Amino acid sequence: MPVIDSLWGIAFKDSKPAKVCQWIDCPDAQIEYEKRKMKMCARCNVVRYCSKSCQRLDWSEHKLYCQIPPIMDIAGWMARHKSLFRWALMEGLRLRSEPSNIFQYVLLVELTRMDRLMKGIAPSPFFVESMRLKKYSDIEELIVDPYKGSQKIIEAGGIGQGIVVFKVSEGRPGGYALFRLQYHDFHEKLAGEESPSRTGWEKIARGVVNGEIPIALLSRRIEGPPNAASST
Ligand SMILES: [Zn+2]
Ligand SMILES: [Zn+2]
Repeated sequence: MPVIDSLWGIAFKDSKPAKVCQWIDCPDAQIEYEKRKMKMCARCNVVRYCSKSCQRLDWSEHKLYCQIPPIMDIAGWMARHKSLFRWALMEGLRLRSEPSNIFQYVLLVELTRMDRLMKGIAPSPFFVESMRLKKYSDIEELIVDPYKGSQKIIEAGGIGQGIVVFKVSEGRPGGYALFRLQYHDFHEKLAGEESPSRTGWEKIARGVVNGEIPIALLSRRIEGPPNAASST
């Protein structure tokens, strides 16, 4: 399944699925698959089987998510959830009480491609595995100056520019990881309450993006304060 970035107009090379027979009761599961010919499902190219018989036995399960792959657009996906990531950044960094955190931390969002999830139908092309705070200095793959995008905002009386870092992993050792950044400008001082717990924001944001929590239930919390205006 191709991953593209519609903003940059580029596509990323797809790699082949792991050499493991998808049938859960595969009789050859204990044998080294590496030495065998493993055929991919011709329709989705997401799973492999060691034999026709394994493929037949697995079909009642696999047909639930076997589909001709849509294009997974990372830029479109990031844009679609932008206001939610902005909220997570605000809550996670506790910008209302600790605005200087914006120069210390980024919000790291680790994603798994939906076609690498082995069962079920994901409502979104990317599945959020985790969201956590990382110090700027701990994101070695990126060289970002925390003050660069913030200068003008601070001069105008705002808090600064926060960054959400998205990491899409192949989901197996040696696979590549794709990084993308999303910038959020906080032009005004934030008023209002901190989130009820220091970790609650993570569960909420992850649940909404992954489709486990309907966004309607959260509208009050997410759209409440004036700071929810979208950044440019
Ligand atoms: Zn098999
Ligand atoms: Zn398939």
